[in-house]
Amino acid sequence: MNDQRVPDAKQEAIAAVAAAAGMTRRTAIGGGIALTLAFASSAFAKPSSAMAANGAWGGYTNGRIPLDALTVIEYPGVNPVGRSMNPMRLEPGCAIAFMALLTRYREDTGSYLPVDEGYRDWDTQNYYYENGIGGAGPPGNSNHGWGKAVDFYQNRVTEGSNYYNWLAANASTFGFTVLRTPPEAWHWNYSGTYTEEDDMTPEQWQRLQDVGTKVSQNADAIASLTASVQTISQYLLLPRTEAGVAGPSTVDNVALTSAKVDRIVAKLGA
Ligand SMILES: [Zn+2]
Repeated sequence: MNDQRVPDAKQEAIAAVAAAAGMTRRTAIGGGIALTLAFASSAFAKPSSAMAANGAWGGYTNGRIPLDALTVIEYPGVNPVGRSMNPMRLEPGCAIAFMALLTRYREDTGSYLPVDEGYRDWDTQNYYYENGIGGAGPPGNSNHGWGKAVDFYQNRVTEGSNYYNWLAANASTFGFTVLRTPPEAWHWNYSGTYTEEDDMTPEQWQRLQDVGTKVSQNADAIASLTASVQTISQYLLLPRTEAGVAGPSTVDNVALTSAKVDRIVAKLGA
């Protein structure tokens, strides 16, 4: 866990206010890719991570998913080779989780994971199967056909390698587990529904819950704070003389609002 990822109380309060307001947060995940994550008040309900390991989604057929229903994965180290589909694509939820995993690896190691393949369409799967490539089975069964599996470079992500050891320690946080039957150290299935809330320690999660509770309990104070900020904004936009006519001086309003902000933030962050 990177300590820089732990928001301080004030940031948590702001995030919680945004969450309570049902705002949409735009999260830059790196590599030029930005995914929009809905961060509504339901974020305070811990989602179940016990989802089916494999499975259909969107009413699609394995290996016959329209490409525009999938999310393109572009990140350093993602370089499909051979007949692997290029660019790499994944089921949207899996894509969010995988980008988070890739980003975390970069943060932890300063390096990049060597990634080969994600979604594999019917024809490609069939080609692998008929030519005995990589022990691929017949089309219609692979998690690659659902866009819920990733292959790293087979000759680099081997058991005991630094890559593998990092994945073994961290991938489950993001909902990925290695294929064991048959043993394929390079193949990782997306076996859950990753959310940012999953990527927290229990202590961080509890703290966020607590902040959410405080936000609910202090809704009136927050509304008052928002009104104060709006008021002071209006004063600051007025010429000095008009501000004087309209009410307390700008300086007084800044001081009053600042004190109010301090009190409420202290209350939320306690
Ligand atoms: Zn695979």
